[in-house]
Amino acid sequence: MVANAPTPKPGINTRLTHTGYDPHEYHGFVNPPVVHASTVLFANAAEAAAYNKRFTYGTTGTPTTEALAAAMDALEGSAGTVVVPSGLAAVTVALLGFVSAGDHLLITDSVYFPTRRFAETVLRRLGVEVEYYHPEIGTEIAALMRPNTRAVFTESPASNTFEIQDIPAISRAAHKNGAVVLMDNTWATPLYFKPLDHGVDISIQATTKYPAGHSDLVGGTISANEKHWPQLWDTFRALGTCAGPDDTYQVLRGLRTMGIRLERHQASALEIAKWLQGLPSVSDVLHPGLESHPGHALWKRDFCGSSGLFAFVMNGGGRSNAHAFLNALTLFGLGASWAGYGSLAGHVSLRDRTIAKGENYAGPVIRLQIGLEDVPDLKADIQRGLDAAAAVSD
Ligand SMILES: *Cc1c(COP(=O)(O)O)cnc(C)c1O
Repeated sequence: MVANAPTPKPGINTRLTHTGYDPHEYHGFVNPPVVHASTVLFANAAEAAAYNKRFTYGTTGTPTTEALAAAMDALEGSAGTVVVPSGLAAVTVALLGFVSAGDHLLITDSVYFPTRRFAETVLRRLGVEVEYYHPEIGTEIAALMRPNTRAVFTESPASNTFEIQDIPAISRAAHKNGAVVLMDNTWATPLYFKPLDHGVDISIQATTKYPAGHSDLVGGTISANEKHWPQLWDTFRALGTCAGPDDTYQVLRGLRTMGIRLERHQASALEIAKWLQGLPSVSDVLHPGLESHPGHALWKRDFCGSSGLFAFVMNGGGRSNAHAFLNALTLFGLGASWAGYGSLAGHVSLRDRTIAKGENYAGPVIRLQIGLEDVPDLKADIQRGLDAAAAVSD
């Protein structure tokens, strides 16, 4: 925390600028030192035997990881945060912390695909019963609860198709059954949705995305409420999944500008989504910030913003039209790891789905990440893609 904090309740950009590290702890330098460390020396045998210093070993934290964890706690409203080497590690470490052999785990069917792969491989091998539910299930999730339901994994909006989950309703049903609620909140970041304020126990963030924001590292954080922090910390310590100092520093650096970057991602994405809605070659735009979106009311109730990632459905056509669209783009890159400064596009596959299969879409689903470029240039690029797609006949 910063000494002499200006107001009792500073705004979000003020907190992003000042939380996590006090320059006067390190000679006044504005940013924390990047501490490369394995061993921590003790002053004498008694101190070594007690092993209760603020820092004890490289795997459990340094001033660099502590600065990022403290900043995330301030944003999430969490009791503690661990910093891990990727967003996927944030998912896997969190799940390993709370499910055991014989437990039943509910996962949204629209989950980020590598989360499903982890559940289908490692968790099933370890004896966890995995079941998927429709992302729009809401209160009806109560009917899926079993005596051994230990955890409910949520992600909202849905990966690729952007349905909004009723997180408070799901959390209430889960807690009534004694289950822990985990949420992958990468899309909104704690700026636009605060999981712990809506009943979630464990908030997961791929810091690879908006916090880092420059497509130059992978990282993750897991933030827990008071009740679940001790178990999360014990799991993290046992697994040894600590993030490296340079990447951790870069995430903290990115966090300082995340608020203003998100504002721009939000405004540009909404402008492009609205423009796409009016085009004859587009059948649907999957963006919860649009009034036409089926989850708009829930989104408006719970979220305070939208980010730069959404999808649209082409008005007919198939794979060759989708590929023609993608191949004609000159500004949008074809790649997966969104939330960098550059725009990206991709043809969505829903083959992994077992419940929310998206069978009613009129054509291919194209996911867009709207970067920080100028909107007229991005629109012109998309138009180029749509013209190329329309020129394909098959
Ligand atoms: C990218 C992403 C992850 C994983 O992050 P990595 O750092 O790439 O492993 C997890 N969840 C969601 C929703 C993501 O978009």
